[in-house]
Amino acid sequence: MSAHLPLKQGSRLVLASHNKGKLAEFATLLAPYGVEVVSAGELNLPEPDETALTFEGNARIKAEAAAKATGLPALADDSGLCVSALGGAPGIYSARWAGPDKDFAGAMRRIEEGIDGDEREAWFISVLCLAFPDGATECFEGRIDGTIAPEPRGAAGHGYDPIFVPEGETRTFAEMSDAEKNAISHRARAFEAFRKECLG
Ligand code: IMP
Repeated sequence: MSAHLPLKQGSRLVLASHNKGKLAEFATLLAPYGVEVVSAGELNLPEPDETALTFEGNARIKAEAAAKATGLPALADDSGLCVSALGGAPGIYSARWAGPDKDFAGAMRRIEEGIDGDEREAWFISVLCLAFPDGATECFEGRIDGTIAPEPRGAAGHGYDPIFVPEGETRTFAEMSDAEKNAISHRARAFEAFRKECLG
């Protein structure tokens, strides 16, 4: 384990995200551990380009940039949906497939059009990366396997939730409550791995 870990009670941690939903989610998850969080937005940090070709690479770019700019440990995440019949796409391009208008209905149609036959396996990945100002990093991956529903179903959640049916379920993520999804999601699993190693 890194000499920096576990994080001490009262440590300050930068959340390297400008997404308000993610910031609120991580602040809630970290609150019980006595870690004070401050967001990249509050510190006016620029958003670096996500130029890596892996989830881990992009999470690392965001975390390292924030740690270097602030002199504080920084936590970033990167996530997406991978579809077997599409060779793992949209993957790291999940947000980009929806475009600037966040047209997830269109992105979900594009996925269905790319599936030929009954190869419907898919998985969500989330990678969390913690970076320190001296350049040390620790990354944690969470994954949930499932299948792509033939048509979107459900109104809860966000993004690709209406077409993803987690393994062992008949409902899509968008037909489940937040608590049900959060008990098994890729993000919850990545956070659990991070919690065990970094929060003592
Ligand atoms: P990023 O991690 O903010 O770069 O974006 C990840 C993209 O993957 C988002 O735009 C979502 O569309 C998609 N994604 C990641 N996690 C989920 C999820 O839990 N449900 C639905 N879509 C997700």
